[in-house]
Amino acid sequence: MNQANNPQTMHRRGWDRLNWLSTALALGIATLLLISSETATLREDFQQRLATQASLVAANSAAAVVFRDADSARDNLTAFRLAPEILSAQIRLPGGKPFASYHKAGTSEASPFWAGWLGLDRIEYQMPLNLENTAVAEIHLVADLEPLRARMLGFIAVVLGAALFALFIAQALMARLRRAMRRAEDDMVHMAHYDVLTGLPNRALFETHTAQVLARTARGGDRAALLFFDLDNFKVVNDSLGHPVGDQLLRAVAAQLSQVVRQTDNLSRLGGDEFTLLVEGAGQQQAIAVAEHVIQSLQQPFPVGGHELSVGASIGIALYPDDGDSVDKLLRSADSALYAAKAAGKHTWRFFSAEMDQQARDRLALEAGLRRALERGELRMVYQPIVEMDSSRLVGYEALMRWDSPELGEVSPTLFIPVAEETGLIHAFGAFALREACAQTRRWLDEGRVELVVSVNVSARQFYGHGLVNTVRQTLAEADLPPSHIDLEITETALLGAEQGVIDILGELHGLGVGLSLDDFGIGYASLSQLKRLPIHKLKIDRSFVMDILHDSDDAAIVTAIIGMAEALGLTVVAEGVETREQQAFLAALGCRRGQGYLFGKPEAAE
Ligand code: C2E
Ligand code: MG
Ligand code: MG
Repeated sequence: MNQANNPQTMHRRGWDRLNWLSTALALGIATLLLISSETATLREDFQQRLATQASLVAANSAAAVVFRDADSARDNLTAFRLAPEILSAQIRLPGGKPFASYHKAGTSEASPFWAGWLGLDRIEYQMPLNLENTAVAEIHLVADLEPLRARMLGFIAVVLGAALFALFIAQALMARLRRAMRRAEDDMVHMAHYDVLTGLPNRALFETHTAQVLARTARGGDRAALLFFDLDNFKVVNDSLGHPVGDQLLRAVAAQLSQVVRQTDNLSRLGGDEFTLLVEGAGQQQAIAVAEHVIQSLQQPFPVGGHELSVGASIGIALYPDDGDSVDKLLRSADSALYAAKAAGKHTWRFFSAEMDQQARDRLALEAGLRRALERGELRMVYQPIVEMDSSRLVGYEALMRWDSPELGEVSPTLFIPVAEETGLIHAFGAFALREACAQTRRWLDEGRVELVVSVNVSARQFYGHGLVNTVRQTLAEADLPPSHIDLEITETALLGAEQGVIDILGELHGLGVGLSLDDFGIGYASLSQLKRLPIHKLKIDRSFVMDILHDSDDAAIVTAIIGMAEALGLTVVAEGVETREQQAFLAALGCRRGQGYLFGKPEAAE
């Protein structure tokens, strides 16, 4: 925006000029008042002096009166010494006849023009006089106010000087004040429109700008694309490395994005790790190109706070005018598309489609229901057997959560656990799962099934905040359960960027005496070197590898490698999703010690 010509700046300038004028005017009036009051005082004083002179003449009027110039050297007459400023003195007899008179020599020059205005040119004084042998006479004095003028000039100079100085100081102070106010005003305007962390336009500016672009696009019969993106692993980084690192990462991402997008494209940060990009004139193809470009540019790791952080982004795309003809609708469409992109496995983009609206509504309903599920007693645990691979002997159970929703029926944990994680409900849910599983295990022990170990799933988010270790310790104590009968299953992704915090918690859990298993192994990123550092006892091979193990040589190779590696590290391997005898035999032959799957039993209520 052009600062010089915007209406606000022009308005400000008008005000400045008015300020100047009014200050100068006020000072001018004050100066004039001062000068005229000072003039009046001086004149009055002078008048007083003349009166004194006249009285003096009057007092001596018995003698012959002769006036004498103050400078005159002649002193041989009884005479009055007149003050130097007296121009003429006269004693007039009744009828105006002069009796004695004096005229200063060479005094006819006119006083300066301004003296008349101020009443400082000359002054006359007369008073009645009693002469001894005559009737009432009159003394008439005329004085030149030259000395007053000189004093007055000095006074005016001082007052004007002081006034100008005051004006200057006042203006300097006011200018400073104005500058400070302007800066504060600019800062406020900036803060209202820009995100403090990244310097990008914020939601408010995004909305105004987008509305303008959409209006322009509509007039031109053109189109536009709104890309809504969200960083894939931001929450993990923020939770595990802390907010300062999260903030740095956001700044780095914003800087990277600013480089990648064209200048005219409107990039904004709506909050959290959500960014938008409005591409004017873009249709489907162009939107895809931009989305791919952005995803690619965010895939490289960012060096932040001594870490190399890979985030990656998912993008939802909504097209104007098809997917929404207002900012609000367009944004909601892009948001639905973003949700779909995340569900599709992250690091990818999706266009908005009409079904997504329904999905978004479904999700809201799911979230609302889930918030009440625990207090309404709609959650319960089911148990799936875990067996020895070669003998099929039962060694334990995995506790799995079920939600019986009155509105939605039985909801799969693959649907509601991610929502519970996002909403933070997972902490309460996790505590519930642990409590139920411990109580159930206690009952089994009491029934004499002393060899059982029950696995409980722990979500990555439970590692951050909310005192997981304490919850586990307390729950075990409340159920009066030896810790060795509980295994905690942690997904590989929980270890993503496994930082010291997570490793410490694992160590503490291990210290409590509970077992630790790595769930869904093979699909995440856990590396061998990482495993060595962690107090993990079991690996659970993800179901997706077991499914096709008989027909897919890649899967067979991966499972073989995992088993070999686990063996070397002294870990027990559990195969998930074993559904056939053939799979069981194959896995047993590879050296897999334990299995879980429909072949051995589906997850069922404990009874
Ligand atoms: P998971 O921990 O990997 O659990 C195994 C999943 O595989 C369970 O699905 C189980 O029913 C299913 N499964 C077991 N054997 C077979 C088989 O032979 N064939 C097939 N097709 N599936 C089999 P479920 O119960 O739907 O749970 C899904 C996921 O939800 C779990 O995966 C776990 O990650 C999560 N989950 C379940 N309960 C909890 C919980 O209490 N807390 C947390 N944090 N996550 C939970
Ligand atoms: Mg599990
Ligand atoms: Mg699993």
